[in-house]
Amino acid sequence: MTDPASSDGRMRLTVLGGYLGSGKTTWLRHQLHDGRFGRVHVIVNEAAETPVDDALLGRATAITVLAGGCACCTGRGDLIAALRRLCDDRSRLPADHGRLDQIVLETSGLADPAAIVDAIQSDPVLVNHIVLDETIVMVDALHAPAQLQTEPLGRAQIEAADQLILTKVDVSDPAALGQLRATLAMLNPSSPAMASVRGETMALPPLPPGTSALPLPQLTADAGRAPMVPTHLTIADSIDWTAFTLWLSALLHARGDKMVRVKGVVRTPAGRLLVQTVRKVVQSPEILPEPVAGGGNSVVDNTVIFIGRGFLASDLAVSLHHFAEHSGRGSAPATGGPEPV
Ligand SMILES: [Zn+2]
Repeated sequence: MTDPASSDGRMRLTVLGGYLGSGKTTWLRHQLHDGRFGRVHVIVNEAAETPVDDALLGRATAITVLAGGCACCTGRGDLIAALRRLCDDRSRLPADHGRLDQIVLETSGLADPAAIVDAIQSDPVLVNHIVLDETIVMVDALHAPAQLQTEPLGRAQIEAADQLILTKVDVSDPAALGQLRATLAMLNPSSPAMASVRGETMALPPLPPGTSALPLPQLTADAGRAPMVPTHLTIADSIDWTAFTLWLSALLHARGDKMVRVKGVVRTPAGRLLVQTVRKVVQSPEILPEPVAGGGNSVVDNTVIFIGRGFLASDLAVSLHHFAEHSGRGSAPATGGPEPV
């Protein structure tokens, strides 16, 4: 168990990251059961994944589930708001009255932990109440070698870690496991790697000398290959806001390297929301005033402009349509065609 709170009285925050299926919940459940985190509040961000089973983490643990998008991009505002609420609640209690010591944030498998840490540390309120303890990233020993070949996000997660924990080591081929460990050490030389077996953290045997890392291809955006085009997507009234943000989150993760800018106004129950992204970073949504008749408004409600390369308006429309159908939230949007810049 770590020291309760930090020496200056701020709450400690542990960010738990890792790809889909890397074993985050299993490990966390075990660590909570062992009391590693003291008086802890767990925030689970599930983005567009299968709904979390609260019971998995044990009913004794205080949990907040953030399901409105990935906390590193579209769900960033929700995360900041949830953390601020925890800080407010804690400030109202006297120092010795069961105050929280620790927050654990279990990120979605799509999240870049570095973007989350950056968002928290650049929040003027949160920096006074929360100190980042460490970023722990779970690594699926069976699937990580393939992910690291093709997924920039997989590499970004490794690079963001203070501590790497490998899962499924007991069912991995020893030579492949050695090569993966050498690859992790190459990507992030400063962070130790441990193993988790059924949630229990264990040391790994020393890496045999001369174990070589996997050759990793360069993953670069297709800069300069295709023209940059703005694409207008009209969001049907029947598409709900939650489905739209989840879809946008997934889209930016999959194609953020090609999607340079997204901007538009979407009608939500809360009002007219201005949505803006730059690459994979989503800016905090802002509520706009209602348009004044004859006021020369340049933005049309429920129209979102995507600027990037290598995609078509029809691709976006089909993708959003499938996503909305799949999540049972609305029907097909209409689109305008791409126009060269
Ligand atoms: Zn994200």
